[in-house]
Amino acid sequence: MTTLKAVRGTRDLLPPETALWNRIEATARAVFARYNFGEIRTPVFEDTALFSRGVGEETDIVSKEMYTWEDRARAQSEKTQTLTLRPENTAGVVRAYIEHKLGETGQLQKLYYIGPQFRRERPQKGRYRQFSQIGAEVIGPPSAGSESPLRDAEVLEMLATLLDELGIEGWTLHLNSVGSSADRARYNDALRAALVPVVGQMCADCQRRAVTNPLRVLDCKVPADQPIIDTLPVIADSLDEASKAHFAAVTAALDAAGVPYTRNHRLVRGLDYYTRTTFEFTHGGLGAQNALLGGGRYDGLSEMIGGPKAPGIGFAMGEDRLVLTLQTQNPAAPQVLVDAYIAPVGEAMNAAALNLARELRRQGLWVELGDGSFRLKKSFEAADKTARQIVILGEDEIQTGILTVKNFSTGVQTKVPRGELAVFLAEPAGA
Ligand code: ATP
Ligand code: MG
Repeated sequence: MTTLKAVRGTRDLLPPETALWNRIEATARAVFARYNFGEIRTPVFEDTALFSRGVGEETDIVSKEMYTWEDRARAQSEKTQTLTLRPENTAGVVRAYIEHKLGETGQLQKLYYIGPQFRRERPQKGRYRQFSQIGAEVIGPPSAGSESPLRDAEVLEMLATLLDELGIEGWTLHLNSVGSSADRARYNDALRAALVPVVGQMCADCQRRAVTNPLRVLDCKVPADQPIIDTLPVIADSLDEASKAHFAAVTAALDAAGVPYTRNHRLVRGLDYYTRTTFEFTHGGLGAQNALLGGGRYDGLSEMIGGPKAPGIGFAMGEDRLVLTLQTQNPAAPQVLVDAYIAPVGEAMNAAALNLARELRRQGLWVELGDGSFRLKKSFEAADKTARQIVILGEDEIQTGILTVKNFSTGVQTKVPRGELAVFLAEPAGA
């Protein structure tokens, strides 16, 4: 029989690496709480139409990366539907915002999510078919201030704080504005015109984009196309006064908060729903997949999927790429040792050992439980790999109520009354 393996582009995450994932998620939750964000959990699959309308037919995601299937009806009352594993989470959040009429609260909704996303991409380092995003959205009716550039700046400042607290060193914030939809339409025309004489020399993708969605040409990564792209008009020159003022207010607030950024005229982002502010945080340690996160403002998204006017701004960070970055920065993560390893001497001591382990664990200690069928030498070897200390539990110890504890880092052996054991193990002498 052929052995079954995890599907291409998917991975098992194992300890101790999962401890790093948990630390990242705990830090993110703590930072989001300080900025008054609440968690939203949306389904992992949605009606395909949500993504084709919300993300855009012309995007890479919708045109080639989605996992989509016909879901057969199981009863007369059901219809066969076309469903898709979510490739991103913003569309789902906005759908939920509309479905639950969150706009009627009149309040700004500040929502974050952590969870798996699915895209059929070519797997490589930092790029998987199932990956995890940590993201957040600020969305609400205009009367709640959802269009304010202060919201953009606050989200960016929060991201700078989060990356700093995660310990990510040397990130760069790339910032741009793609303007209103009218600005974009104007820019699209300018680009289309500028592309006519040069597009023949460009890659096949760009030739297609020049017709369907010229903005996408700016995303092109083909080296030979870069000098041509550098000669194209920049979107900053197509922005109207209101969009310019909005962007200036974002950068003024970032300057006041001391958040560094660089203006990147080519940052138009891969999704159709963006308006005005767009951004990406990159990191040099990631190689080709250098984007840690991306996001922007999406003032028209709610209306695109049939909802009320609900401007918003949000981002999605690639959790897999955060992990990679932290692992590169810190190749030898220290091994986590439990407080104590309990070594029963002989199988007859196993039951008593479980009881002792229960006592200590209930007092908050991290405890590994050995097995009385092991020789003492084997118990010591196993304990040395996993614990700071070993506790020997034999007939004598049960009789006297005095246990023998050995501390592996000092080599010191101590007799400890059972009643004092938990305190002793938590703060071993000499530690
Ligand atoms: P890229 O240019 O790297 O394909 P993207 O523009 O498609 O990124 P977004 O849709 O903005 O990415 O997603 C936000 C973040 O999610 C990215 O910056 C990246 O960190 C992460 N991400 C996107 N696709 C993947 C993937 N296939 N595997 C791992 N992480 C991903
Ligand atoms: Mg992509």
